[in-house]
Amino acid sequence: PDVVNKIAAGEIIVAPVHALKELIENAVDAGSTSLEILVKDGGLKLLQITDNGSGIQKEDLAILCERHTTSKISSFDDLASIGTYGFRGEALASISHIAHLTVTTKTKDSSLAWRAYYIDGKLAPPKPGQSAEPKGVAGRPGTQITVEDLFYSIPTRRRAFRSTADEFNKIIEMVGRYAIHCDGVGFTCKKAGESSNSLSIQAQATVNDRIRQIYGSAVANELISFDVSDSRWGFRADGFASNANYNIKKTTFLLFINHRSVESSVIKKALEQTYASFLPKGGHPFIYLNLAIDPARVDVNVHPTKREVHFLNEDEVIQEICKHIETKLAAVDT
Ligand code: ADP
Ligand code: MG
Repeated sequence: PDVVNKIAAGEIIVAPVHALKELIENAVDAGSTSLEILVKDGGLKLLQITDNGSGIQKEDLAILCERHTTSKISSFDDLASIGTYGFRGEALASISHIAHLTVTTKTKDSSLAWRAYYIDGKLAPPKPGQSAEPKGVAGRPGTQITVEDLFYSIPTRRRAFRSTADEFNKIIEMVGRYAIHCDGVGFTCKKAGESSNSLSIQAQATVNDRIRQIYGSAVANELISFDVSDSRWGFRADGFASNANYNIKKTTFLLFINHRSVESSVIKKALEQTYASFLPKGGHPFIYLNLAIDPARVDVNVHPTKREVHFLNEDEVIQEICKHIETKLAAVDT
């Protein structure tokens, strides 16, 4: 069964960025306003994320990394309407099967922080001969998750990573996506051993500031905002997109569905088509699209290895969004 768990975990988490994405979502779900991320060797040696959110109760630590342990579903009805496709209490469990996982956490009414170490879903001693029980330590309110030696238990996977620089680039790109999306939350991301941050966004920065700092002024100066909804199809879409004065060789498409960063090649293609009549041949847009869809309409049974999300009346929703953006583009002076 342990081999099965490792294989399953390795399918959910294919690269370090997939583990980090889950950890960012957990920190944001816990109400954090500050996320500090530390990365070593493209996340293969170390991924550490420190937040200032709710923290985890000491009593919950023993089962934290068992599969299906989640504080986010309390009834069967919740399960039907939950907006977190694929992963339901599986992220930390998966990580504990393929990495060394340490959790240090403090709730605001606990006098101590508690540190626990996990292997294969269970509390484990940090060193042979030590106790597996959570240990009281000094610390600030919030949670620090430390993931070390990712894929140590799947050596063929571990060896398949050629370039830690590529993995770091994927990480920085993902942190940037969440930094743009999570209004009111500050983010830093740093490579271990370097003195300055690779990315740093203040909690009070506006969305435009965030886009400017991450993608540059050329695009931030040429943005239109949009906001469109339709109760027939149970959606609302808002965000920012470049106008006809900006174009780049490859589309930048930041898509969030119900606050999770996901991919949709169908939506991307439709938007590129909308832009084609406004941009010179070969020119592509920047689009940050925040899509809220009635959770009952989202396909939650998508296998977790699939990063693409589908929902009911996809064609109608896409058409409404494209039509709205087209009107906005047509109204911009070029
Ligand atoms: P899920 O997010 O689907 O509930 P996870 O495996 O990602 O499953 O996390 C399991 C549980 O651990 C969460 O439901 C939450 O209660 C707790 N948790 C994880 N990370 C944090 C965090 N940074 N702050 C507070 N609680 C957390
Ligand atoms: Mg989670």
